[in-house]
Amino acid sequence: MLPMTATWQNWARTERSRPVLEVAPRNLDQVVLAVQRALETGHTVKAIGASHSFTAIGATDGVRLDMSRLRGLVDVDLERGRVTLWAGTHLWELPAILNPLGLALENMGDIDRQTVSGATSTGTHGTGLGFGGLSTRIVGATLVTGTGDVLTVSETEHPELLPAVALGLGALGILVTVTVQCVPRYLLHAVEEPMPFAAVLDSYEERNREADHFEFYWFPHTSGARTKTNTRLPLDAGTAPLGAVSKYIDEEVVNNAMLGAVVGFQRWVPQATPGINRAIESISSRRDYTDESHRVYITRRRVHFREMEYSLPLSAVPAALRELRAMIDRRGFRISFPIEVRAAAADPLMLSTAHGRESGYIAVHRYWRDPDREYFREAEAILAAHEGRPHWGKLHTRTADQLREVYPRFDDFLAVRDRLDPDRAFANPYLDRVLGA
Ligand SMILES: Cc1cc2nc3c(=O)[nH]c(=O)nc-3n(C[C@H](O)[C@H](O)[C@H](O)COP(=O)(O)OP(=O)(O)OC[C@H]3O[C@@H](n4cnc5c(N)ncnc54)[C@H](O)[C@@H]3O)c2cc1C
Repeated sequence: MLPMTATWQNWARTERSRPVLEVAPRNLDQVVLAVQRALETGHTVKAIGASHSFTAIGATDGVRLDMSRLRGLVDVDLERGRVTLWAGTHLWELPAILNPLGLALENMGDIDRQTVSGATSTGTHGTGLGFGGLSTRIVGATLVTGTGDVLTVSETEHPELLPAVALGLGALGILVTVTVQCVPRYLLHAVEEPMPFAAVLDSYEERNREADHFEFYWFPHTSGARTKTNTRLPLDAGTAPLGAVSKYIDEEVVNNAMLGAVVGFQRWVPQATPGINRAIESISSRRDYTDESHRVYITRRRVHFREMEYSLPLSAVPAALRELRAMIDRRGFRISFPIEVRAAAADPLMLSTAHGRESGYIAVHRYWRDPDREYFREAEAILAAHEGRPHWGKLHTRTADQLREVYPRFDDFLAVRDRLDPDRAFANPYLDRVLGA
């Protein structure tokens, strides 16, 4: 009889599970041993990263592999700008590893709390029509498959598996190391400014094509958007960072403390939401600064929320947003959190939300204590109808049959799964739903 372990809960508090055993391997051999023991005892096995997925993609009642002892740099190929990292390395640990090597990640999402393996396994992305998500920068990996074997995948070893393994949903094996293609360190010049929502929608594609990285937030019930346009600059262009006080006021006071208080208030007085959103939008001001890339990409998110995000063909984004606005008005929802809109380049990864098409991303959020089911259900109906593909780590209700219709290489991925995990050692109910049993 195995000892029961503590209950696991994800960041958003949407999921919990109780593994039968938790193991924290220190090296490749210990990962192999853990998978083999799980197979022998008839348990499933799942690695967990920083538990920042909103879905139950990482939940397990079998053996949980805590990857926190497998962190840091394994190897570097300076000539090609590549680093091999232990899979449990957090994104926030990367500047200390990459800066001395003169390297940086090509693009990043909003936060850096995730692990490199969790982020790549779910297709974590930022914005920028010329750039893909982290998974598109994975050029190699060592994993332990569902038969307990060690497999190395790269451009020269089993290259046909890379488009599946780089974004594998945790369904193909336990990643032990990943090799990331980096770029030379660079700066970002950021311009944040309010603009009319209607004007942003009308020029959405052009804005994305003109900028290196364009995104915007729209507060429901208002007619204004907050845009953020980042331009890449060489490291010697010189920084002009936000002052410490201004950064503190904006990120800690406005984005976290004030937002927390406001959404908490709106929970009890929902009819105040439109007025409060309009007030927040009206005080939104222009900011212009230049800093090292990771400092510009990353913000702190301490107010817990729930999120659904869909990727759409880029050209469908304005129409989908107009439908979302009409739906919110029609249903009388009171939405305190903004809708976030980003973009990414087309890529060839089998289960990438940007597979084969330039993509726009629309993310809807709710405060974690607010009821989200009806709003998300209505939003999902709109987003899915535009050939939408849900983010694998964010809330959605799609099933394997529905997903097969929007992923041309869905069955190729399943064939890789059959090859690497024939007995479904890495299965859980979420994967049963989205991939089939
Ligand atoms: C506040 C917040 C902000 C976010 N911002 C963004 C954003 O800007 N862009 C975006 O795209 N997403 C974003 N996300 C979503 C997030 O990036 C993904 O859900 C990501 O997977 C979280 O990484 P993690 O390390 O927490 O992975 P976990 O949630 O711990 O795990 C995710 C999956 O990866 C698997 N996994 C983890 N480690 C391994 C391993 N070693 N081998 C095999 N499989 C493994 C797990 O089993 C699970 O299936 C955000 C989430 C939050 C909570």
